[in-house]
Amino acid sequence: MIQLRSLVAGSPVAGTDLLTIRSPFDGSVSGTVTLATRADTEAAIAAALAFRDTPTRYQRSEILEKTRVALESRREEFARTITSEAGLALREARYEVGRTIDVLRFAALETLRDDGQIFSCDISAQGKARKIFTTREPLRCAVAITPFNHPLNQVAHKVGPAIASGTPIILKPSEKTPLVALKFAELLYSAGLPPAMLSVLLGPTAEVAELLVKHPEVELVAFTGSVPVGKKIAATAGYKKLVLELGGNDPLIVLDDANLDLAVTLAAEGSYRNSGQRCTAVKRILVQEGIAAEFTRRLVERTREYVCGDPMNEATKVGTVIDEPNAVYLETVVREAVAAGAKVLVGGERRGALLSPTVIADVPRDCRMVVCESFGPLAPILRVRDLEDALTLANSTAYGLSSGVVTNNLESALKAIRTLRCGTVNINEVPGFRVENSPFGGIKDSGLGIKEGVIEAMKAYSYVKTFSLPW
Ligand code: NAP
Repeated sequence: MIQLRSLVAGSPVAGTDLLTIRSPFDGSVSGTVTLATRADTEAAIAAALAFRDTPTRYQRSEILEKTRVALESRREEFARTITSEAGLALREARYEVGRTIDVLRFAALETLRDDGQIFSCDISAQGKARKIFTTREPLRCAVAITPFNHPLNQVAHKVGPAIASGTPIILKPSEKTPLVALKFAELLYSAGLPPAMLSVLLGPTAEVAELLVKHPEVELVAFTGSVPVGKKIAATAGYKKLVLELGGNDPLIVLDDANLDLAVTLAAEGSYRNSGQRCTAVKRILVQEGIAAEFTRRLVERTREYVCGDPMNEATKVGTVIDEPNAVYLETVVREAVAAGAKVLVGGERRGALLSPTVIADVPRDCRMVVCESFGPLAPILRVRDLEDALTLANSTAYGLSSGVVTNNLESALKAIRTLRCGTVNINEVPGFRVENSPFGGIKDSGLGIKEGVIEAMKAYSYVKTFSLPW
């Protein structure tokens, strides 16, 4: 069992209130975290604001690189911590640690890259012999609030770019998965991160998260999580920068000309990886009528290969969802769909927080399962007449995060890229495909269109200063 404390500028808090974290699979205690208070939150903000001694680019890059090397050497331990608190299958937890290593590598490299621009000013009749230069300066205090579904990588995607930019950051991880976040902070301090550049706080929402969001001297809130909480933050944060990465309801469109094997692989991987708990998981499969029957038959067959069970077991491909209430919710939306005429072809069995990967066919277009975000291993199939019908249906929900289109027709691919109202369109790939430094993020209810990914996030965690000189 892991025993950790919230950290104010690197120092453990003194309180006595404990948060107990249990395995979603068997309820065993994974660890405890000592909670922070309002006073600790205020102390963390004060420490960030008082920090002046920003490390050089070389030093920041070294801190990120040393953290990467340390994580490499402890990757199995970190993966097991993720599995024990999140219930994700070990193969998924190992994959997540690998992605985090990439985030650290790219952040270390980007730190070394100069980010300025130069403008000659003698370029117009109104100009004169001067030059304008830009340089990026750190923020004084940023706040990051992260969800449970990628408990390490979501944290790295906020803390890494903040450090790369020289910005002190206060992290509020999910209370469902705080252990790996606190262990990650320890790696950063050991690698030489000045303690005032990072605090990690768990505690009552009003005393920690809400106080951080509303505080007038916090200059940025970077939030990844659900739409309702994201919109509440937008309404209460006041005058500060906001990066909101919210829910998704991503379609995988499969057209008649698709490579069927590829389409089945993408549908299964997109729907079931990470127990279906990715913001960019495939949440609606829109299949053209001509191939729908054969696609469905093959997806059912493939789904049987996704062994669901004890997440620590090497043979397991799909672990639990985050907790039993979430599994019960998923069961409920499946039942509603069935009552409306859909058919469960495989899966749908629930044991505690385990829900076996489920293929549901003939799903009506207005079912809650496909209109709202379902965060679990569900593969709802909806038939579409043609590309036009698919694009209209894909665009019909409130979300706009990502999408995938399986087709061998270039015209169809280009039309989909132009027409889909979302942050990303991946042709012949799952909606979730990305690399850790490419721009990532959604529009509509999925976000404000301000992207993350290491390079874009570094822009968010800094201000551009413009200066000019006679030349
Ligand atoms: P959530 O319930 O919105 O929680 C996210 C974080 O917000 C947690 O740390 C939570 O703290 C905190 N929080 C709760 N109430 C708050 C408040 N009033 N003010 C400030 N912070 C508050 O989301 P989740 O269930 O953990 O994560 C799943 C959701 O995240 C899904 O909708 C998924 O699509 C989305 N997501 C989006 C992306 C993306 O990049 N677009 C990526 C991953 C996940 P507590 O844990 O203490 O409640």
